[in-house]
Amino acid sequence: MAGARGRGRGRGVISWYELLNISRDAAERYRAYEQADPIACPNDGEPLREGPDGQGLYCPFDGWRPNGRRVGDGLTST
Ligand SMILES: [Zn+2]
Repeated sequence: MAGARGRGRGRGVISWYELLNISRDAAERYRAYEQADPIACPNDGEPLREGPDGQGLYCPFDGWRPNGRRVGDGLTST
């Protein structure tokens, strides 16, 4: 018991700098995540595929698109 005392000090304790780095890292990752194209539909988890109309990825299950449009929107809009 006594031998364990004082050892590994700082273990499990995150320093302020580490915390700062982690939050920075998370922010960067979040930014990258936001900019990256989603790979799956948020509604049903269906992997997105290239749309038949060439306007980017879409969900083959319900037609969801990352830009909020649906498959065919580009064809029917004025
Ligand atoms: Zn979907």
